[in-house]
Amino acid sequence: MEKQGNIRISSENMMPIIKKWLYSEKDIFLREIVANASDAITKLKKLADMGETSADGDYRITVTTDSKAGTLTVEDNGIGMSEEEVEKYITQIAFSGAADFVEKYEKAGGDGIIGHFGLGFYSAYMVSENIEIFTKSYREGEKAVHWASDGNSTYTIGDCDKETRGTKVVMHIAPEEKEFLSEATIRQLLRKYCSFMPYEIYLNFKEGEENKPVNTPVPLYAKQPKECTEEEYKTFYRETFSDFNEPLFWIHLNMEYPFRVKGILYFPKVRKQVELERGQVKLYCNQVFIADNIKEVIPEFLMLLNGVIDCPDIPLNVSRSFLQNDRQVQKIAKHITKKVADKLTELFKNDREKYETCWNDLATFVKFGAIKDDDFYQKVKDIVIYKDLEGKYCPVSGFFGDEVSEEDAKNGKQPKPVYYVSDENAQAQYIKMYKAAGLDAIVCDTFIDPHFISYLEYKNPTRVRFLRIDADVDGALKEEAEGDKEIETIFTDCLKERNVKVKAERFKDGSVPAVVNVSEFMRRMSEMNSFYKMGDPSEDITLVVNTANAAVQAMKGASEEKRKFAAEQIYFLAMMSYKPLSPENLDEFSGNSAMLLEKYLQN
Ligand code: ADP
Repeated sequence: MEKQGNIRISSENMMPIIKKWLYSEKDIFLREIVANASDAITKLKKLADMGETSADGDYRITVTTDSKAGTLTVEDNGIGMSEEEVEKYITQIAFSGAADFVEKYEKAGGDGIIGHFGLGFYSAYMVSENIEIFTKSYREGEKAVHWASDGNSTYTIGDCDKETRGTKVVMHIAPEEKEFLSEATIRQLLRKYCSFMPYEIYLNFKEGEENKPVNTPVPLYAKQPKECTEEEYKTFYRETFSDFNEPLFWIHLNMEYPFRVKGILYFPKVRKQVELERGQVKLYCNQVFIADNIKEVIPEFLMLLNGVIDCPDIPLNVSRSFLQNDRQVQKIAKHITKKVADKLTELFKNDREKYETCWNDLATFVKFGAIKDDDFYQKVKDIVIYKDLEGKYCPVSGFFGDEVSEEDAKNGKQPKPVYYVSDENAQAQYIKMYKAAGLDAIVCDTFIDPHFISYLEYKNPTRVRFLRIDADVDGALKEEAEGDKEIETIFTDCLKERNVKVKAERFKDGSVPAVVNVSEFMRRMSEMNSFYKMGDPSEDITLVVNTANAAVQAMKGASEEKRKFAAEQIYFLAMMSYKPLSPENLDEFSGNSAMLLEKYLQN
């Protein structure tokens, strides 16, 4: 005999609201229903473990699509429900849970509730016009129950002839949601949400045939690290992220106390060096997928990695802004960050060769992480490496100078400069001169380096300042001799029309007549301006003339006309090793050079 009843909560207006909010994530209903099935099995298993019931074994969940009948069915052989329990858990709790959810959601002002946990059973009404439940409790002598409702205000409940223990939820899919009757769609959703659920899940199980579950009930991350082989880690990576490049290495998180967190973070090979490549960090809660890349839980920079993280202790039914300020969540994030830094440090110390081989792929991640997260910076600051002019990797902090005291700083003393090369080809001339003078520099040629070195200066204002190799030629290369005023005046006069300052210094190496010196500060400013598209970058350029060069010395005895000519040539040559000449300058330079050849050959 079927009874009828009214649902106490007024649910008539709930569905349009829920649908609107969850529109793009409607498919989470499947996760909710399958997770309920999984919970029902866990409950039974616990009772069996405690000796409360002998019902046990061969736990499984089956999902069945029937496009003819228009139904999607999820069945478990878990704990089941008695009539009383259905009344209580479904009619009351599930419906009030949904009402609760709507209220919370409204309070959060649309600030999405993580993973939309809490909507539970009721979420199936997003795609169903009617839902039936057939269930039989594990307790001896309980009758099987049938419950049905269209999700609005009425439901029916009565007996049925289900013989096996457990619950079967039959969703009558609404006409406009027909896609949820497709086996392919459901398979894809099960893979997304249920891949690691702890009991075997079968889609369209066929009796008497060899069926394969769609999920992996014991995912690799849930095992003890010492039980896992290298091959298993690689396979897990391939299958979870569909990336057929092997990961560089990985970190297996496995912590029980003071909070639980399990997972594996992989360092992927980087494809392009020119930008940050997003990775994918999937968050799970007790093996149920919640969402990708939740920045409130996982530090942003870690999202350059690929990984799975399972945190059963995260409160998922709260709004994102709450989560961000949750102490527990912050501790978990800190723990993960620490583990990553520890792994890198361990590699740096114990397998320097591998560390250096991987560095190209790691560098962006480490530098970005250091900029974004001070804890991380503190842990990795001595393992950030750069190539020196010989191509050898060295920790950048090894280049820093001694601390400049406040007193000295007041008197204008600056921290020791660290010279860097931003483009080995374009700055080849400078590199040659630096090497000849026995000076070193580091190669900073990736897109993140300008930001990173600025950050290092900001963190170590008394110990380091970075100067591009063309920014301090006179400071770095000159000998401790006086400048040469006469030469300076000759060049200044000859180059009046060029927008350039002139300085004469004696370099240790006499081969190059002059180089261009570009103010580090002005250059960084103009780079920033052009980065923010704030108009024409102006430059602050000084021509540093090398009085150790024979041609420069010969200027002293030359005629006015020859001086002018030679000064321009020397200027163009110096400019060229800094950046390409403008079309007009190139024209002049070619003309001058041709004339020079002519004169040379005529004599
Ligand atoms: P939640 O799972 O968050 O408690 P739901 O609305 O999903 O909320 O479910 C309400 C309750 O209904 C569950 O707590 C559980 O007691 C019961 N229930 C739902 N599905 C099943 C099932 N397949 N087997 C047994 N009990 C179930």
